[in-house]
This record gives sequence, C-alpha cells and structure tokens, in this order.
Amino acid sequence: MTDNSNRFVRTRYAPSPTGPQHIGGIRSALFAWLYARRQRGQFILRIEDTDQKRTVPGSIELIQESFDWLGMDIDEGPRQGGAFGPYIQSERLELYQTWANWLVDSGHAYKCFATADELKEMRATGKGYDRRYRDYPAARAAELEAAGKPYVIRFKMPLSGLTAGEDMIRGIVEFDNAQLQDAVLMKSDGFPTYHLAHIVDDYHMKISHVTRAIEWLPSFPLHLRIWEAFGWQQPQYAHLPVLLNPNGKGKLSKRKQQFADAGKSVPVLVHEFIEAGYLPDAVKNFLTNIGWNFGDNREMFSTQEAMQRFDLKDVNAANSAYPIAKLDWLNSQYIQTSKVEYLASLLKSVLQEAGYTVDDERLRQVVPILQVRLKTLKDVVPMAGFFFADWAAFQAPPPDILVQRKMDSVSTAKVLEESIPVLQGLKDFSASSQHGAMTQFAKSVGFKNGQVFGSLRAAVTGQRVSPPTFETMEILGREESLRRIKLALQALAQPTS
Ligand code: GLU
Repeated sequence: MTDNSNRFVRTRYAPSPTGPQHIGGIRSALFAWLYARRQRGQFILRIEDTDQKRTVPGSIELIQESFDWLGMDIDEGPRQGGAFGPYIQSERLELYQTWANWLVDSGHAYKCFATADELKEMRATGKGYDRRYRDYPAARAAELEAAGKPYVIRFKMPLSGLTAGEDMIRGIVEFDNAQLQDAVLMKSDGFPTYHLAHIVDDYHMKISHVTRAIEWLPSFPLHLRIWEAFGWQQPQYAHLPVLLNPNGKGKLSKRKQQFADAGKSVPVLVHEFIEAGYLPDAVKNFLTNIGWNFGDNREMFSTQEAMQRFDLKDVNAANSAYPIAKLDWLNSQYIQTSKVEYLASLLKSVLQEAGYTVDDERLRQVVPILQVRLKTLKDVVPMAGFFFADWAAFQAPPPDILVQRKMDSVSTAKVLEESIPVLQGLKDFSASSQHGAMTQFAKSVGFKNGQVFGSLRAAVTGQRVSPPTFETMEILGREESLRRIKLALQALAQPTS
C-alpha cells in the first residue's frame, strides 16, 4: 500500500476549538507528538474551526496552554507560525474553495442544490441522500446557480466495489462502497467540511502521519477516495482507540466524572489535572500508558524513555478503560523523585493560592520531609500549611486531637509535661537526637512510641496528620516547639464541660 517509510515525519494535532481540552484529545496529541519526536520529525498544531457554531472563543489559548503545561513543544502552529500557515482553517477558506472547484471541474465532485425540505424527505425514507444532483444536466445546474440558488459540493463516491486502506494499528481495512454516501465537501456558506479541509491541509502541510480518533474510521474510505481523486500521495493513518469510563462502560465522558469506586471525581479536562495537583510529567506518563505499553513491566518511565520506544504500530487496537486509579500512585512517585527546587516551586504556588505567605528557606526545609507523603501537590495544604501560617497566632488544638489512643487528658498532660525537660536538655535539637531521647522517654513513662510521638505531633502541629513529629519540631525549632507544648498543656487543663 502506501510506502511512506522514507518520508520526513510530520504529525499533527487538529482539534476543533470547542473549549477546554479533553484528556482523550490530548492523548491522541501525545501519541502524535511522541512519534514525531522519536522520528526526529515535526509536530504541528492546526485549528479546525470550520464548524463555526461550535467555536468557543479563547479555545486556542487553552489548547496552547495545555501543551505548555505538559511540556509538549509544537514546531508549527497558530502561535509558532511556520512555512505552511496559516494554521487556523477559517483563515484558509480560499484554498478549500479552489480545491473543491477543482474536484468539480475534474468530475470528482458536483454541486447539489437540494433544499432543506428535499433533504428532509430523503432522510424520512431512511436511505439518506439519493444522489439526485449527481448526474444533473450541467446546463440546468448552471441555471440554478445563476438564479442564486444555494448549493453544496458533494463528492462522487464509487457506487460499487470496495475501498481498502491501511491503518497503522489495524492493518488493511475494507469498505463496501455501496454503503457509502456522497458526502458534502463544501457547505453552502463557503465553509468546507472536515472531509475536504483536513485533506487539503494535510497535503499542503506535508503531513506524513494522521493520528485521529477511531470515530473517523467509517469516513476513512471517503478520505482515501478524495486523496486518490486529487492524485496526491496520502499520509499514513492511525485510528486511535478511545478512552472508556473507568468501569469500562461507555466512552469517557466529557465532563468531570464521579468515580464510583473511589467516590471522588475524576479529572478529564487538562485544567482539572492542574487544579487537582498532578505533575505534568505524571500526567504524560499516565496517558502514554493507556493503550500503549512501555514494556519490561514498567509503568513509570520518562518522556525521554518513551520517545526512544514509541511507535504508532504498537498502539493497542482495543479501547481502554480509563485507569484513573493509577494516577495518584504515579503522581506520588513523581513527587518523590522530583528535585527539591522544582517541587518547591510547584508547592509554593499551591500554598500561595491557599493564602499562605511562603518563606523560601522554610519551604526548602519542609519539602524533603513531605516528598514521600504527598499524593498530589494539593495535599501540602492540609499536611503542611501550618509551617507557613503565622506562628505567633498558633493555637493549641482541642483535647480530642491531643489525646491519643488508650490515653486520656491526664496521661497526655503527664507525657507532655515530662517531655519538656527532656527536650530542653538535648545538646542538639536534630530530629535524630530527639528521636533517640523520646524513645527512651516513652519506655520510662510506660507508653508506646506512637502514643508519645502522637501527643507531641498534635501539640506542635495542631493536627492528627503531619510530616514526622521530630523532623517537624526540628524545623519549628526548640523554642517554638516547647512553646506549643506548653499551650497544649494549658488547653488540657481547661475544664471540659
Ligand atoms: N478536528 C477533528 C476532530 O477534532 C480532527 C480529526 C483529525 O485529527 O483529523 O475530531
């Protein structure tokens, strides 16, 4: 079939600007991008806005921002420019008109003057368009046109036989021409349909590989015939499987989902991943894993590593359930292996958004003890926000936070009270020296480590969950830690009503 093996690789992502980016589209883009990068080719962004009713202002910026966030560089596009622009279809209308006319003049397409009423009648028969203008006398068509009757341009599909094409993922696919319609290429308003526009553009933009959703497979024979009519060398096509809902039933919805198993909502739009505190590299890794396998039983790999192995041919033909349950795990792995500086900069914005004033020095101290504990960046707020709150305004938590399992306020007060001189007497206030001393101390007062450490944790953080107690106290410093322990003692001494 098509031998494109020595063609310079140029792939593209061609979204319609209909609002925020859905993760399914981004996954298609990611595959196209990985393939281009692997082959040292180019990746192009083209905006398909020929259905003007669906166009949402601001979408192009959202699309571009999604790529920026994911670190997927674009070689040519609306923002980057390039030798084959413009990259927005509504700015290329003349080109489509020219080639639509060429198809009519060369006998591959025809003008169809069917009115809305006529079309409705035809639809009512259940058979669709009956090709009534396909062999319409040229002179009469010219009259209708001269009289100002609106028309569309339709493609002349072969009426019988088969159309076969090669899909990189599925192999040879065959279609029965008798089942196919004479599709509209140009609408009466002068806008092309997707069928015409993408082919004219993929040709003029020298696209070598078209990656698109499986929904387009039924139109594939039409597209093959259009390429043939133009006499242009067609690109290779890869029809990508779609993402299904996490339970494997139905196509992944466009809106944020309730994830039945976890009772939490599942992000499906790029900005929802950002807002939920996922790292761009984790999201990229997550998406690359859906319908493609790195191999070696590895779920975690860098983009660079994926790039060295990725091939469109290896994409699984079957649709995949959205494996959202893996995302938190992957994200925590990425957080654990991030450089402190990088993670600090991400956490800083999250903390600032939550209203904290972030001291960089303190943040650098806190990051290493948080790294193994965060699933998402957002977890920093409940877990470690207290480090960045106004220390002078710290208030002791209520007794139900302070008192640990199998303890009461009397025993908690005793533990806290007696730990003060031990902590005061330490030569250095490092976490390890505290840990040694407090382990001994716990033994001497007859409580478990968990009870003693937990009481201290609650006293100095005001929370049940926090980074490890002694690392936390080391960062707070001896003076502040002791001050907080004393505040806790006061709180315990208050009569409870
Ligand atoms: N604009 C089309 C869509 O969003 C693009 C399909 C393609 O990549 O050719 O489905």
